[in-house]
Amino acid sequence: MTVPFADLQLQYQSIKGKIDAAIASVIRANAFIRGPYVDAFERDFAKVASAKHCVSCANGTDALYLAIATLKVKPGDEVITTAHSWISTSAMITHAGAAVKFCDTDGVTFTIDPAAIEAAITPRTVGIVPVHLYGQPANMDAIMGIARKHGLWVIEDCAQAHLATYKGQMVGTFGAAATYSFYPGKNLGAMGDGGAVVTNDAAFAEQVAMLARHGGLVKHQHQIEGINSRLDGIQAAILSAKLPHLADWTRARQIAAEFYSATLSQIEDVEVPNVVAERSHVYHLYTIRHPKRDALAAHLKAKGIETAINYPTMLPLLPAYQRLGFRPEEFPNAFNDQQSILSLPMFAEISRVQQLEVITSVREFKVDETD
Ligand SMILES: *Cc1c(COP(=O)(O)O)cnc(C)c1O
Repeated sequence: MTVPFADLQLQYQSIKGKIDAAIASVIRANAFIRGPYVDAFERDFAKVASAKHCVSCANGTDALYLAIATLKVKPGDEVITTAHSWISTSAMITHAGAAVKFCDTDGVTFTIDPAAIEAAITPRTVGIVPVHLYGQPANMDAIMGIARKHGLWVIEDCAQAHLATYKGQMVGTFGAAATYSFYPGKNLGAMGDGGAVVTNDAAFAEQVAMLARHGGLVKHQHQIEGINSRLDGIQAAILSAKLPHLADWTRARQIAAEFYSATLSQIEDVEVPNVVAERSHVYHLYTIRHPKRDALAAHLKAKGIETAINYPTMLPLLPAYQRLGFRPEEFPNAFNDQQSILSLPMFAEISRVQQLEVITSVREFKVDETD
């Protein structure tokens, strides 16, 4: 038996009628760019994300760029983010015009360490971009406390954390704005690229929309030099068809994660995801730590089980940041995780049989080792 890392076909098959009808209606209406399907999705997603406004865009990377650029960062400004994320988070800080300052993770949740943020603040710091990595919220009380104390803005990268909550409050509603990705494999995924910025601030939303739409909200009236970043009508209609199922799919991921953790935590050397009290984890990824990660991954691969490393190299050590000359010792937790993390198959439709196959294979690895 093989167990895929994720299975996008199962989700499609489960609501095929709705998806096919959604695509057909966009084609019939010629509503490919902007139009009623995009407007409807923006309205619906704002509600689901507990935000007053949603501005859709081409992908989660653009969403970060649009949000950070709207804060009008300028050369010399420093923006703090985590050493452990997908590169969009830090790259868009740079592209928006600021200097990225990396902080280590907390060694427990894979999210940014508030103590490291405090230590990284200088008179040039203007903002913080926490990432709710793998689907577990960062320490938002501490982060917002630091931001208030130092007069910094916060943009939450929620690309992996649709519907996650911190002390009962939806992620993405703490800072000035938040960004989402609808990449196909994300918890709410399109059948192509998609992204959004959400905010409670009407003026901020208008600036983001202007920047995303050639610098103007009225055709031929370009107030600023913008970019072209759009969610297309077909993707919007697909996302609207999927949105009513997101809560159930999230619950299914959580139930699958609980099953994994209950059994895997009994196996020596396996460290299952640590979920901190009062944070809900939506398990975009189910990531364990293991001291013999590479050997375990090879063992699982031989058994037909797909795994992934998210991510093999922490951001400061990527060639893209070689110019800044970071050393692993500056980010000990992120560096330790870089060598021990392994993401196991996780998707809303994963079956108990598939999970048992994964669990049995992980257990066998231990047996092989002690022979
Ligand atoms: C996926 C992701 C992004 C980028 O989203 P795209 O839609 O792929 O551009 C940004 N940040 C994080 C943490 C992500 O996981």
